[in-house]
Amino acid sequence: MRFSLKNLNTFGIEAHCQNLIEIKSIAQLKEIVPTLKNTPLVLGGGSNILFTQDVEQDILHNTLKGIQLLEEKDESAFIKVFSGENWHQFVEWSLSKGFYGIENLSLIPGSCGAAPIQNIGAYGVELKDVVDSVEVVDFEEGKTQTFTKTECKFGYRDSIFKNELKSKVFITSINLKLSKNPTLIRSEYGSIKEELLKQGITNPTPIDISKTVIKIRQSKLPDPKNLGNAGSFFKNPVLSLEEFNLIRHHDMPYYPQADGNVKVPAAWLIEKSGWKGYRRGDVGCHYNQALVLVNYGKASGSDILNLARDIQTDIMEKYGITLQPEVNIWP
Ligand code: FAD
Ligand code: NAP
Repeated sequence: MRFSLKNLNTFGIEAHCQNLIEIKSIAQLKEIVPTLKNTPLVLGGGSNILFTQDVEQDILHNTLKGIQLLEEKDESAFIKVFSGENWHQFVEWSLSKGFYGIENLSLIPGSCGAAPIQNIGAYGVELKDVVDSVEVVDFEEGKTQTFTKTECKFGYRDSIFKNELKSKVFITSINLKLSKNPTLIRSEYGSIKEELLKQGITNPTPIDISKTVIKIRQSKLPDPKNLGNAGSFFKNPVLSLEEFNLIRHHDMPYYPQADGNVKVPAAWLIEKSGWKGYRRGDVGCHYNQALVLVNYGKASGSDILNLARDIQTDIMEKYGITLQPEVNIWP
């Protein structure tokens, strides 16, 4: 059998695999693990992966579903969400129940299981802010293990699952502690503030924040249904103060971090270097959002990777900064 992966990755890249297994329950996953001949590739919503060739390994397509309210207190709720649930639908579910803390992460595509892998973040909030623990089944022994928030080693778009545990585990569920206090909102991020002001909202609720984030994202980001992409292709570089002072430019935006480092927006570096809106053949750098590489139709994974490498080389030559991909490049 030969399966097309075109509809299973948001870049819309035509790649194939030999064996695609839908994982519908943890019991089924544990039965399958000992029969696997090689390390499988776990696939959620395919919104953070670039296939540069066909996949020889078995693909485990995650469709584990379910949301459980584990415990409810006066101020908070502990929730287990199985990893095949869609992230944005889960955000909507939590808001409908009066559980808050993830409204700034509205409209991020993909599955709940992939969310801890790069510690998804947007508009001043990261998944780590609400994670209690993450449950996995490991590929070596097929056993369930639980990682506490500390053990997950969350960082900026980073975690243990991108490093030591890469390709070693199947994340089966995430356990979150959400707040029941609707006044604990995060609205300090520039574009949220501006949009709330424009709408005349002075005391926003978590639902207002979610709606605002959705509005901003829809106005700025290409919808993968219309234009293949995987969101930001590169991470924002985080530099030491010494490195930053060496490359500092009078109109370069920057964000000092709590640890003394400085974050520089990769989109600014790419735009300043003239790549925003650039297109060659079916691959390009989006005209509205320079961090997003797009597939205008029939681009291959290698076409996208070649453009990414050209941008990296140019930024290195102009600024001496290495842009690290955020997207998982396969293989
Ligand atoms: P996939 O692409 O299916 O997988 C990503 C990686 O995780 C792969 O290496 C895969 O093998 C592995 N993986 C997936 N599921 C599991 C599992 N259950 N167990 C073990 N390994 C697994 N990201 C942000 O952080 N912030 C944003 O604001 C944001 N905006 C985006 C906007 C757009 C338009 C798009 C297309 C993407 C955006 N992203 C953003 C990136 C992406 O949505 C997230 O990284 C998301 O969490 C990926 O989920 P997924 O299920 O699609 O992962
Ligand atoms: P933006 O508001 O134009 O800002 C550009 C960059 O500057 C962002 O990447 C952000 O870093 C940083 N930034 C802006 N204001 C900041 C502040 N007050 N404090 C710290 N850092 C700040 O960004 P955008 O492209 O429209 O994206 C908005 C948000 O959605 C960002 O958080 C971004 O990460 C997220 N997003 C992520 C993806 C993805 O695929 N990963 C795709 C689209 C949007 P941070 O990225 O660290 O926040």
